[in-house]
Amino acid sequence: MRQIESRLSPPMQQAIPIIRRVFKQYAPRRVELEFTAGKEWYNHSRWSLHHSGNAVDIRTRKLADRGVGIVSTLMGHFLQQELNSELGKAKYLVLVNDQGPMFPHIHVQYNPGARMSTPGDDDGKKRRSQTV
Ligand SMILES: [Zn+2]
Repeated sequence: MRQIESRLSPPMQQAIPIIRRVFKQYAPRRVELEFTAGKEWYNHSRWSLHHSGNAVDIRTRKLADRGVGIVSTLMGHFLQQELNSELGKAKYLVLVNDQGPMFPHIHVQYNPGARMSTPGDDDGKKRRSQTV
């Protein structure tokens, strides 16, 4: 599914080869990477980032843990490390199953702004009183 890359912002396009490499390196068996633009996920709270091409979702259902176990968690961890060391710290954020176990995927986003968007944030609605 290479056509997704043309819809991504340049910084996200930079991240794709790293994502592919990390999966190749750490997936216990060969996993065909499936990228989605994100709108497939019901009520995706980070749709605005997807819409601007600053986020991708990688389907993880085909991993050994079906996307909901330690393999996926580690994959997200390695991915975050690689993105940090190669493209800059705090520029990319990797979230594993941010939509819950019903929709196993790894969400990777690029943060265009200076401030990192954190899992407690609600796109569009900034609740400053909430602590995460
Ligand atoms: Zn996503």
